Formats: sequence, structure tokens, C-alpha cells
Amino acid sequence: MKTIIEPFRIKSVEPIYFTTREERLRILKEAHYNPFLIHARDVIIDLLTDSGTSAMSSEQWAGVMRGDESYAGSESFFRFESSVRNITGMPYIIPTHQGRAAEKILFSITGGKGKYFVSNTLFDTTRANIEFSGATGVDLLCDEGKQPALVAPFKGNMNVAALEQFIQEKGAENIPLVIITVTNNSGGGQPVSMENVKAVKAVCKKYGIRLFIDACRFAENCYFIKKREPGYADQSILAIAQELFSYADGCTMSAKKDAFANIGGFLAMHDEQLAMECRNLLIITEGFPTYGGLAGRDLEAIAIGLEEVLKEDYLQYRIRSIEYIGEKLDAVGVPYIKPTGGHAVYLDAKAFLPHIPVHEYPGQALCGALYTEGGVRGVEIGSVMFGKYAEDGSLLPAAMELVRLAIPRRVYTQSHIDYVAEVILEVFKQRNSIKGYRITYETPLLRHFIAHFEQL
Ligand SMILES: *Cc1c(COP(=O)(O)O)cnc(C)c1O
Repeated sequence: MKTIIEPFRIKSVEPIYFTTREERLRILKEAHYNPFLIHARDVIIDLLTDSGTSAMSSEQWAGVMRGDESYAGSESFFRFESSVRNITGMPYIIPTHQGRAAEKILFSITGGKGKYFVSNTLFDTTRANIEFSGATGVDLLCDEGKQPALVAPFKGNMNVAALEQFIQEKGAENIPLVIITVTNNSGGGQPVSMENVKAVKAVCKKYGIRLFIDACRFAENCYFIKKREPGYADQSILAIAQELFSYADGCTMSAKKDAFANIGGFLAMHDEQLAMECRNLLIITEGFPTYGGLAGRDLEAIAIGLEEVLKEDYLQYRIRSIEYIGEKLDAVGVPYIKPTGGHAVYLDAKAFLPHIPVHEYPGQALCGALYTEGGVRGVEIGSVMFGKYAEDGSLLPAAMELVRLAIPRRVYTQSHIDYVAEVILEVFKQRNSIKGYRITYETPLLRHFIAHFEQL
């Protein structure tokens, strides 16, 4: 077997600005030890997110030039619509400026007090939009998905028995939608099997509940199905995606993920009445139905990106490059969520830094160490992001203390990835000298974005 190489050549490059360790110590201190407050220019390898950070192809840039900026009936819209329809088979396709705008519209219409939205795991913006409507979001993840060190093929699956029990408890009339997130972003980028989607669909059908897919990483999920699920090895990614969407009544999508676009999203569905209501709201909040908050050039970039993401050589390289980091970490026993998912590696900071108690934020400390050591920027997904305070002011910690290293699509080469692994291994060697943090400033909502810290 030969090396799996990047299936592209580089036509246009962006410089990386290098900093010294001393400079990074100063920069991190000035940013109050919060990676969100570091200027991107001061980052060597930026693994903060895979959202909107993809490198577009020469075809996409050519599409940007061809974009039709007509207010109504733009050619770019029809190309976008046909691309989405080919994959999803859904007749009603509504562009939005990003994924959460699609969610806002969908849950404003279907949500409200007393309603429940059930999922394998709702992404933060999805949950926030559900809760903002007055409804309740419920995660029913399979048991394997809750064990970080367990290796299993489809740790993103929904617990189907728990779903049926939940429906019987709360009543189908109070559950407007079941939502399957593929891949399961908040659960480590783990995939969902076709068998699981079919089983969830069967339950939804029995009780007359609509099934929606949060489709941000549908292509990565379909690649895992092809590789791991019996019966799919010889099918194309497009055919697998078409089958996946055939079980759904609708979907929401952020084109900033698997469509390689820097901005964009959509809502698609089968129900004409629901589509009509969504479009009414779209006109108030996003724009006319043939552009929905996007420029014609963005629609063009998404249409082309959706075709490119189905290419198997791309997906093989994509999934392999993430697995590759995992193998380097395994060699020295660095703890992380296993197996590696589709878009990121999640370091287990609690196991990495066992000497730092949760109220001293081991994930944030690990982020600081990765930046100091090599200018690598990741994000804490732990008690800084999800922690709450008890009445007596003590911390109610998150279930896990993780550091997510999300890999932007088509941006970094193998030597960049080797460098990231070297930085992690170096930090692992020095782990006993890493110190915890104390919060010196915070806001009541989404504090991780702006909080200030002090090193203990
Ligand atoms: C990114 C994301 C969203 C929200 O999309 P935005 O384009 O960031 O608004 C929703 N669901 C999942 C699973 C995501 O990863």
C-alpha cells in the first residue's frame, strides 16, 4: 500500500507567520489565556474549527466569478438547487446564510413551549434554537457513544429503544421532529450507521413523527458507512448519501462544513406546507427564496463544493489524515476519544493532565500548552464551555474535559499534521509541569468565547 497523498495540488498559498516560544508566551498572556482572543496571524496551525475554513477549489473560485447576482431567479440558485436535490431527493430547497439560520426558521415554526425535539446529540446552535423557541432538546445517544476509550464503528448512533420509550412517555403529538446529526459533532465526530437511521425512521413512521437530518458532515458519514457497514463497500458515496436522505423528511445543513464553502447553508424538505411557512419566515429574516441571505457567488461555490465532497479520493484522504494523528498519539499513549472521528481529534484533558482538578480547567490548560509549545490553536470542550455554578458558587463540571483539534478541509498537508503530532507529544512529555487556570472575568452566556484566565 502506497502513501495516501493529498488529492490536490496547491495553486494559491497563504503565508504562515512564525513566532518564537517567548513571543507566544507573551501573546497568550495578552490574550488572557483564551485561544479565541489570539489574533489568527499569531497562530501557526489553526485547528480552532473546521467551519468555514475550507480551501475552495479552482472550480469553486471560477464559480464565484460566474455567480449570477440577480435578486430573483438567479442562475446560481438553480445550479445550487439542482445540486442539493440530486443528493437529498427533496423538492423544496431553501438557502440560508448558515446552518443556524436554517435551524432558527425550522424551530420557530415547529417549536414552542411543551414540545420536545429528540436527537442522537443536538449540536449547540441546534439546541440553542430549540430552547429559544421554548421547546426542550433531548439527546438519546447509544451507550457506546458515551465511553471515550471504547473503539466501536458507529458511536454516533441513536438509542432506538430509548427513543420509542420517550415517545410513549411524552406523546407523539408533543414531538414535532426527531433529528439525527451526521456525523455527531458534539460526540466526537462519530458516524451514524444506515441501519440506525432506518431503525429510527421505522419508529418515526410508526408514531407519525417527521425525521430530519442535521447534514453538516453527511459525506464524511457516508464514507464511514462505505468502509464500516456491511453491504456498502461497492456503492458510490452519492448512492449512499441518496439512500441516507431517502429516510428523512427534511434536513438542515451548514455549507461551511462538507460543502467547502466559507459561508452558507440550507433547509430542504418534502412537505410543501412546511416549506411555504419556512419561506415566509425566510423572506423576513434572510431574503428572497432564491438567495436566502447569500450572494449568487456563494450559491455557486456551494453547488460545486457539494459535488466535490462526494469524491472518494478526497474522503479517503480526509478521514485518513485524522486517523493518522490518532496513530501517532497511540504510539506513546496520549489519551483521546477513540476511534478518531471524521473532522477532529478530541484529546482527553482529564486523563492527559490528571494532576489538574476540573475546577482548574485542564482543557484550557492543555490548549495553552499546545499554543505555547508550537503555536497550535485548539478549543476547550469541557467545563469552561459547559460548566455551571452551584448555589454555593462551586463548579458543576462538564461530563468530559476535552480539547478539540478540528482539521480544516484541504488546508494543511501531511507535514503540517506531523508537526501537530510532534507538538502534542512534546506537551505530553512535559505534562507534569503544566499548571491549571483560574477565571478572572466571564459573562453569563457562552463564556468560553470571551472569558479571561490567569495561570495558577
Ligand atoms: C456547524 C454546525 C451547525 C451550525 O451551522 P453554522 O453554519 O455554524 O450556523 C449545526 N449543526 C452541526 C452539527 C454543526 O456542526
